[in-house]
Amino acid sequence: MEDEHLCVRCSCLGRTCCQWSEVYVTPGDVDRIAEHLERSDFYEYREPSDSDYAAQDDDPAWQHYVFQPDGMRRVLKRRHGGDCTMLGPSGCRLPWEVRPLVCRIYPYDYDEIGIKPQLLHGCPVHLLKPGQSLITLLDMNVDAARRWHRQLYEEIRLETTADVDRVDLRPAC
Ligand code: SF4
Ligand code: SF4
Repeated sequence: MEDEHLCVRCSCLGRTCCQWSEVYVTPGDVDRIAEHLERSDFYEYREPSDSDYAAQDDDPAWQHYVFQPDGMRRVLKRRHGGDCTMLGPSGCRLPWEVRPLVCRIYPYDYDEIGIKPQLLHGCPVHLLKPGQSLITLLDMNVDAARRWHRQLYEEIRLETTADVDRVDLRPAC
């Protein structure tokens, strides 16, 4: 089974990122997914249940735009047990160009400045052979991740929750 995609091998182990992640969706994600599904009941507003999602002190733009004053943010609904409602028997049911931007970028780590050199933890790196690259096995590349990262930070600025009293963090032109 070594020629199976790493995500397939990961799913055989139990819980993939699609089964435990809290997926924030931008206003652009919502539009794309709603158009694809022809419904808009796939998201909700929730506080992070994992404190890692709330610890955004190193990314003030994310903190400012993504989180509402009450600490909630827009996330995909999950089934009882944690599975993302977009998860089907063969993986994500959304085409790449519709999938939430944070899903497309995972497991790259990032902040507003850009993609960080180290990856997020969560993928089963113990399945890699010596010399194998996680990013290569996931069929990802950093150029695409940078493009989606730019789009992500453009789209979080479309959030309408920012009120006039909050500090404008947009970079000066
Ligand atoms: S991206 Fe990583 S954690 Fe998610 S399914 Fe693939 S291998 Fe598993
Ligand atoms: S939208 Fe797709 S890729 Fe993202 S968590 Fe849900 S099933 Fe996984």
